[in-house]
Amino acid sequence: MDQSSNADWLARSQAAVWHPCTQMRHHAQTTAPGHLPLVPIARGEGAWLHDFDGKRYLDGISSWWTNLFGHANPRINAALKEQLESLEHVMLAGFTHRPVVELSERLSALTGGRLGHAFYASDGASATEIALKMSFHYWRNIGRPEKTEFLCLAGSYHGETVGALAVTDVAIFKDAYAPLVRAATVLPSPDFRLGEAGETPVDVAGRAAAALAGHLEKHGEKIAALIVEPLVQGAAGMAMYDPEYLRLARQLCDRHEVHLICDEIAVGCGRTGTFFAHEQAQIDGQPIRPDLVCLSKGISGGYLPLSIVLSSDTIYHAFLDDSVARAFLHSHSYTGNPLACRAALATLDIFESDDVLAGNRARAQRMASALAPLADHPRVEYLRQRGMIAAFDVAADDPYFSRRFYRAALMREALVRPIGNTVYLMPPYIVGDDEIDHLAHAIRGALEEALA
Ligand SMILES: *Cc1c(COP(=O)(O)O)cnc(C)c1O
Repeated sequence: MDQSSNADWLARSQAAVWHPCTQMRHHAQTTAPGHLPLVPIARGEGAWLHDFDGKRYLDGISSWWTNLFGHANPRINAALKEQLESLEHVMLAGFTHRPVVELSERLSALTGGRLGHAFYASDGASATEIALKMSFHYWRNIGRPEKTEFLCLAGSYHGETVGALAVTDVAIFKDAYAPLVRAATVLPSPDFRLGEAGETPVDVAGRAAAALAGHLEKHGEKIAALIVEPLVQGAAGMAMYDPEYLRLARQLCDRHEVHLICDEIAVGCGRTGTFFAHEQAQIDGQPIRPDLVCLSKGISGGYLPLSIVLSSDTIYHAFLDDSVARAFLHSHSYTGNPLACRAALATLDIFESDDVLAGNRARAQRMASALAPLADHPRVEYLRQRGMIAAFDVAADDPYFSRRFYRAALMREALVRPIGNTVYLMPPYIVGDDEIDHLAHAIRGALEEALA
């Protein structure tokens, strides 16, 4: 039994670990309002995280949107233990193995065979870079080397490496590195909150698509790809939009010979109600077909770093040649790691055997009714939901709001970490009704405390 306490791990972590997405000084301060508590976790079980002092927290944001079926899930654990006994890793250049083949086949099947080639990396930002490089290199390979530019949406987030920052439009992550970045063109977001009086979400989508159309008319010749987060722009603060935008964007990209890259890193794997979010946009009764899809976060069940770019036959075939320079040479040491792929296979097994998408419809309904009373709160705006993501904005003119709220939620045994003034829930797909109610109750209490 581990006899150490939270205090031991706090001090050692603050001294030796440089934490991500964090001003380390906020951990060191112990007084409100700037304080950001650092929480040492001893173990996880289901939707709960347990610290070293006997306190527990319900993981309302799936540990940064990664965990789908709970911590220490027995089925994923069993698959990983079995995999460990046979093959922990082998390089993927010149070698292959069962988990990577099976995973690639199953992902291809999930796209109806439309995206039949899976390229592997370890994190989301790398998947973004791979998709951008593939698009750029495709146009070069087919003799259109002038197509070198990328389009992204206002508020977009596609990762934070220097290449991915090119298509990320979040000032706090980007501004310091602006001189390093070859920035893409930022087009208006279809975020429904931008609607003017009398406009529906479909109208806002139409307006944003008209801006895309105007840009493509003028500059389409030079553009390689448009990259979008389908339906929900996560890091922008769960900005949600109508599928109509994706439908129109697909048609416009086709007309102007521009790739459509769907970054499903956050919204894929059932998060929005369908396995891929882009499936909710249809043309002639069929889901739209992106040219490239990026997956990461939930695909390994939240267990291991894994990202995948799924590509169309057309793109894949443009790289086949005797010339090595025309090949896609991008590589990472842990590309296609067998343990990570096996975790992903176990995750897909659960989707199939438990009919997770149907279960999530009931869970999403419960989330909606648990949060519904907040709509009447005088400081709550735009209460919104898409599948297993629910969010609202808080009218608060307080730079410390998100930290106050976060601390107050932790006090109520809930991990809910607002993005600015947006509070959101994105729980694992195993939360029960009582746990959803627990989260809603904690949110209500934390809101009152943070606003007091
Ligand atoms: C998290 C995220 C990324 C980046 O993934 P990392 O693994 O953190 O590099 C890219 N795009 C979207 C939409 C994301 O939510």
